[in-house]
Amino acid sequence: MHIGFLGLGNMGAPMARNLLKAGHQLTVFDLSVAAVASLVEAGATAANSPAALARADVELIITMLPAAAHVKAVYLGDDGLLANAHPGVLLIDSSTIDPQSAREVAAAARQHGNPMLDAPVSGGTGGAAAGTLTFMVGGESGDFDRAQPILAAMGKNIVLCGGAGNGQAAKVANNMLLGISMIGVAEAMSLGVALGVDPKVLAGIINTSSGRCWSSDTYNPFPGVMDNVPAARGYSGGFGSDLMLKDLGLASEAAKQIRQPVILGALAQQLYQTFSTQGHGNLDFSAIINLYRKDDQA
Ligand code: NAD
Repeated sequence: MHIGFLGLGNMGAPMARNLLKAGHQLTVFDLSVAAVASLVEAGATAANSPAALARADVELIITMLPAAAHVKAVYLGDDGLLANAHPGVLLIDSSTIDPQSAREVAAAARQHGNPMLDAPVSGGTGGAAAGTLTFMVGGESGDFDRAQPILAAMGKNIVLCGGAGNGQAAKVANNMLLGISMIGVAEAMSLGVALGVDPKVLAGIINTSSGRCWSSDTYNPFPGVMDNVPAARGYSGGFGSDLMLKDLGLASEAAKQIRQPVILGALAQQLYQTFSTQGHGNLDFSAIINLYRKDDQA
């Protein structure tokens, strides 16, 4: 299939490469000339604007952009995708944005005669490179069926979560819980260790008891408890604290718009904001445990 791909960053570039590997023809655009050149070297064709990409003979367009403002500019701008896409071309936005913005853009797309899905991902850059992402999809089931084989070249779990915006709703709910649970594990591990329990013994107890969760048994934030997690390598790599802060902000904003309380989510957002202000936004999000530890322990 001839696919347009816009947004070739840390996630978009490996996703686009997997589409090429699966035998699809790609026309790509990014503001970064280097990012486009690297995909062209891998076999894609360059477009010089979103409009040019939309006017190329593509059957489907995927976008992978930083935030809602970029998504709105790329879809709704005068030189954007909607003003130039052929009717019937399926649009898929995989950026993580708030559900309300996703619904707004999908409604505008429908008015232009273009079906649209929101399809944010989890799995990080590792999952993007390995083609094992989870796609949380919002939109019509017929459009989902059309997108499924394409998304399958980039991901392993592809789940329809309901109508437009519901992929984003599932994503913000999950990531809010992840932020809260990581802080919970960091707090509990720090307390138990400060009270004298060996960190590995404590993690073993938690992981076979009622406190167990992904943040404790797969991604434990306490250094020395697990190998092959960011805590074992100075919190480098992984999922950056600033990306977690972005997702917690989306959850709080989405909640505010519908007046749904997210008490712990808002607290988690403030803790990650504090951590970011201290200059640690690039560290993996499990480094939040350093808020609970003395400097000489960190
Ligand atoms: P990134 O900043 O590495 O890449 C974004 C790309 O979009 C850049 O190459 C940038 O040049 C391009 N871009 C920005 N505005 C543009 C425009 N107007 N036209 C064309 N290109 C434009 O970001 P990323 O890490 O690839 O993340 C993309 C999305 O995926 C974000 O919404 C993020 O929250 C989400 N996400 C990221 C991860 C992760 O681990 N990095 C995991 C899951 C979801």
